[in-house]
This record gives sequence, structure tokens and C-alpha cells, in this order.
Amino acid sequence: MNVTSTIEISKTAYQNNLSFIRSLIGESCIFSSVIKGNAYGHGIETFAPMAEEVGVNHFSVFSAYEAYRLKKVSNRESTIMIMGVANSTNELEWAINLNIEFFVFDLERLQKAVKIAKRLKKKAIVHIEIETGMNRTGFCVDELKDVIHFIEDNKNYLEIKGLCTHFAGAESITNYFRVKKQIVTYNRILKFFKSNNINFLQKHTACSAAVINYPQTINDLVRVGIMQYGFWPSRESQMKYYTKNKINSNPLQPLISWKSYVMGTKSVAAGEYISYGTSVLTETDMKIATIPVGYAHGFSRSLSNQGKVLIRGHRLDVIGLVNMNMMIIDITNVPEIDKGDEVILIGEQNGITISVASFGEMSNLLNYELLTRLPEDIPRKIIK
Ligand SMILES: *Cc1c(COP(=O)(O)O)cnc(C)c1O
Repeated sequence: MNVTSTIEISKTAYQNNLSFIRSLIGESCIFSSVIKGNAYGHGIETFAPMAEEVGVNHFSVFSAYEAYRLKKVSNRESTIMIMGVANSTNELEWAINLNIEFFVFDLERLQKAVKIAKRLKKKAIVHIEIETGMNRTGFCVDELKDVIHFIEDNKNYLEIKGLCTHFAGAESITNYFRVKKQIVTYNRILKFFKSNNINFLQKHTACSAAVINYPQTINDLVRVGIMQYGFWPSRESQMKYYTKNKINSNPLQPLISWKSYVMGTKSVAAGEYISYGTSVLTETDMKIATIPVGYAHGFSRSLSNQGKVLIRGHRLDVIGLVNMNMMIIDITNVPEIDKGDEVILIGEQNGITISVASFGEMSNLLNYELLTRLPEDIPRKIIK
């Protein structure tokens, strides 16, 4: 197998994050583990069974395809909720048959679901997504009458389980008024449904940032992604939480570490260029190590001459341009580094760390983006 690096996922860190999140949302709220984007790069097939082992039984995915991947590895009767794409008749039929729940945000999907449900002689379990101001997906106010009529006419084929919406940037105070307005709109629409005798078992709006910044939005269920993986939705949310609760150490622990190894080492004389082009001209004699990870493996090219890695407990510089499949590290000050030595790209070694956040800062990527860019074919494994 063509394995040049490995991603490790810590179960203990996950349990820690789950207890922290539980302390925020209370005992009775349903925790839905959001595993879109290949479980934020952690790997659905690796992450989900581990999550189930430690008690998670509700997952949110983006697409029917992700639901399918989850279903294949799921070891318990977890609830699956599709928040986005399930467009074809095949996908919807598959979902309805297996009691997989899904958002509906247009009449076409609602009609299609009922048509299939009639044929299968069972109810489609749906969550009505409403437009509250993000202007992405969700029923607009002027469609609600039609939705309500349609639901009334097709009661036998629909289980209307939830009413949901998504906030347009709850991680930043910049969006405060917009999010507040969304909360008001959501509550108004909820009342409107109620006055038409439609009640929802699961009212849900909160993502990670809303759990932190708008705790009043923690309702019957929360859809938490980034925070369960041990990352704050933004630096600002982290600071806000620290200040409000007078703490100064991080209650979240990242699950992920990313490791590779030294492919080889060599000496380079003074006056030479290193790697492609001329970005590095050696001033003195140097020693370098090659690592078999490059931008094709998710190590951003913008980390050229910027990135850091850990080898033998030293924090060392990426030197020159990051290549497609390799990068070069300056080991002049630690010449004993040798072929086969462990290299930490993200994670900890001898008490020093390279965090996803610092990695993200160096490469100008959001935590979310960096994680989901980690290629699917890097092997993942669970560690304690
Ligand atoms: C991604 C997503 C979430 C989770 O967001 P986090 O910031 O990772 O907690 C919740 N709801 C919807 C609709 C999403 O798309």
C-alpha cells in the first residue's frame, strides 16, 4: 500500500469533548454528531464506530452518500439525519426504507418523499428546514401555507419530526444582529406551525458556535460538528467562553494527529539552492531531511518556507517549496536525525505540539477547511 503518513484519532480526547459538550447542553438534549466532510477529515469509517462505542447514537450527514457510508460501518441502531443532498428517487427510497431522516426545504422533495412513502407503505421521517435569514436552503414564509396544507393532506405518509434552521455565522459577534433576528424568525414560524396544529418533537437550530454564543438556542437537539473534534468554531468563541467562565485552559482536546517519517537525509553545501526554484539559497553548509508528504497529501503549498514539523522533539522548519509528494526540512541543528525517524505534522511529540490552529494560521486556512482537505486515502486509526 502507498502509505506515507498516518492519521491517529484519540478516543480519550473524544470522550473528554463529549463530556464537555454534554455539560453545556444538559442531560435531555439530543447530541447529533455532525460527520459531513468525511467527519471533518477524521474519516467516517474510523470515526463513527468509535463515536458509537462511547455512546453517540445520532449522526448528521450532508448527503445520502455519506449516510450510506455511515450505515455500512454503523454497529448500532443510530439515527441518521441527512441535512443536504438526497435528490434522486433512489436515494430517497433508500433513506425512507431504512428510516433515515432527512431535511426538506422545498415542496418538490416533500412531494417526492410522499410519493415514495405511499409506494413503500411507510412514513418518511422529515425535518422541515425553514429560511430564517441565511438565505441558503429552507422554506420561505410565503411557502408555509402550502407546506402546512400538504402535510395535513398526507399525514399518513409523513412523520414530521423536526423544525430546523441554520445560523449565518454564529461564531462571530459581527453577525450578532443577523443571528438574533434569525432566532426571532424561527420562534415566530414555530408558533405559526403550532397554531396550525403542527408540533415538532425535535426543534433544532444550534451548531457548535451557537451552543457557545447563543445558549438559548440549545433546544431538543444540537447539531455539533467542529467542537466534538476538539476545535473551537472560532478564536473569538473560545475567548468568549474563557472570559465568561473564568478559565484559562482549553476544555477541548483535538482528536487528530498526523504523522509521517523521514525518507532520507543529506548535506547541502553553502551557496546552493534547495528544492524547486530559488526561494532558498544556503548561506552555510546545511543538513536536510526529506518527508514523503506534499500538497497532494493535504500539506498545503502555502506552507512552503513557513510550515513546522516535529522530529526527535525538535520543532523544525519546512524549507523551500512544498512539492506534490515531498517536502524538505532543515535539520542543520539536529544532525543526528535519521532515516525512519517519526515526523509529526500535526500533534504532539515530547511535550511540544503543532496544533491544527497554528498549522491553519500558517497556511491561512480555517480549521474546518484544513481538516476536510485531508485526503480520504490517508489511513486512519484509533488510539487510546
Ligand atoms: C455543518 C453544520 C452544522 C455543524 O456545524 P459546526 O460549526 O461544525 O458545529 C450544523 N448544522 C448544519 C446545517 C451544518 O451544515
